[in-house]
Amino acid sequence: MGTDVLIVGAGPTGLTMANELRVAGVSAALVDKLPQRSTLSRAGGMQSRTLAALDQRGLLEPLLATGDYSVGGGHFAGVDLSLDYAGHRLPWRSVPQVVIEGFFEQHLAAQGVHVRRDHELAALDQDGDGVTATFANGTAIRARYLVAADGAHSAVRQLLGADFPGQAGTATVIAADVRLSVENLPMHTRNEDGHWAQVFELGFDQQGRPLRRLVLAGPGPRQSRDVPVTEEELRAGLRQVFGAEVELLELVYGRRITNAARQAAQYRHGRVFLAGDAAHVHLPLGAQGMNTGMQDVLNLGWKLGAAVHGWAPADLLDTYHAERQPVGAAVLLNVQAQTLLMDWASTQDPDVLAARQLFRAMAQLPDVQRYLGDLLAGTTIRYPMPGEHPLVGLASPDTDLGGTRVNELLRTGRGILVDPEDRLAKVADLWADRVDRVGQGSGAEAMLIRPDGYVAWAGDPDELEPALARWFGEAR
Ligand SMILES: Cc1cc2nc3c(=O)[nH]c(=O)nc-3n(C[C@H](O)[C@H](O)[C@H](O)COP(=O)(O)OP(=O)(O)OC[C@H]3O[C@@H](n4cnc5c(N)ncnc54)[C@H](O)[C@@H]3O)c2cc1C
Repeated sequence: MGTDVLIVGAGPTGLTMANELRVAGVSAALVDKLPQRSTLSRAGGMQSRTLAALDQRGLLEPLLATGDYSVGGGHFAGVDLSLDYAGHRLPWRSVPQVVIEGFFEQHLAAQGVHVRRDHELAALDQDGDGVTATFANGTAIRARYLVAADGAHSAVRQLLGADFPGQAGTATVIAADVRLSVENLPMHTRNEDGHWAQVFELGFDQQGRPLRRLVLAGPGPRQSRDVPVTEEELRAGLRQVFGAEVELLELVYGRRITNAARQAAQYRHGRVFLAGDAAHVHLPLGAQGMNTGMQDVLNLGWKLGAAVHGWAPADLLDTYHAERQPVGAAVLLNVQAQTLLMDWASTQDPDVLAARQLFRAMAQLPDVQRYLGDLLAGTTIRYPMPGEHPLVGLASPDTDLGGTRVNELLRTGRGILVDPEDRLAKVADLWADRVDRVGQGSGAEAMLIRPDGYVAWAGDPDELEPALARWFGEAR
């Protein structure tokens, strides 16, 4: 074997995967077809659950120390979500994707994991023992497992012939990184005639000037995706939404995005796993694509680690699809609803406008704000796991266990068993090589937490041993 796991694609999904495998202590090769990292601007927002997951690897503080990233509530279908209802969770941060990728690449390089560039996947072969990937540059890598993190047009997915059902794009909108003459514009503005704009802060450009993401559309026919975005059409669009008040000072980068929405029918294909945009594509409404991809591989990383180390229960790798496919489907569903509720396509259909008006009124209610905020934040994701306790299947709270937080304890990449009453040693000792028993005397709730931070057991002591075997394999 050349390596334990080959990761194809070094975007946010592939880079996060490489780090998870490093934490799990297995070897990985990370390849990308590009000769250097893309500087094209895409994602601008990190959700609470992703931020917490970075904290569980000790990467949140160093990432946030690289710049001044604003905190916000985000939006759902163009309705601002207030931070007032965020409760205990880490609030949304506007960290650009290029910053996240650069940070991960540097962090991995410091640990000796380097992206192998100029490696464009050309062929793929799998057998009972592993996968062989051949690249356009004539090299080949053999690995036990392969993770496809090669984006929306995934070569891996195509080489597998994997089913990728969904809806083709029917319309585009402009998404451009710009400098504008006016500060403090509302996040979403829409006129009676169906012209609308969204404006997000993107931090600062390389000269330290404030940069904004401007999303712009209106009624009437829309250009196809490959037609370049011009300054003239941006100026015209700004005038239609804001009048003469807001001027374009500079167009830094413009693209058109479509409402294509697709999801892989199967995330696992033998020894090959689809993750990130290779597994799901949709409009970037509510800042979810990159976050979902990063969370896909947080789910998969420790499971591949367990398989390589030889202690994975028989169907552990299948739980990747079982747990993450419904999450991707739920994201596609909420994006679809947002597309309708904000009349993304500017249909001006009276039924759509009526639904939009009703939704905007309802979305001001604190309970609705909280529900939508949690939905986008990813903090209410519940994986289907055995066990009746309300915490089972949810991400663990970041409880203080007498001076050390749960997220800090998870940095080892091992499971943790919180045992406040010091009663579980006998069972826990049987899995002591994979699970750390912690929190004695802390007064916290007893629970078993998987390496990805999800609660696998709480409550009934009789269910602890089966839960340990379910997620951590046979006892020593
Ligand atoms: C305008 C815009 C705004 C967005 N805003 C947000 C946001 O705020 N929050 C959010 O969560 N998401 C957002 N997204 C979505 C987000 O950008 C994507 O979901 C994210 O980039 C997916 O990451 P990935 O690593 O799966 O794929 P990618 O980022 O596409 O990376 C794939 C990598 O694979 C490489 N590759 C491709 N083919 C091959 C091959 N054959 N061989 C080897 N390597 C290959 C590519 O070079 C690339 O480096 C936005 C998207 C757009 C377009």
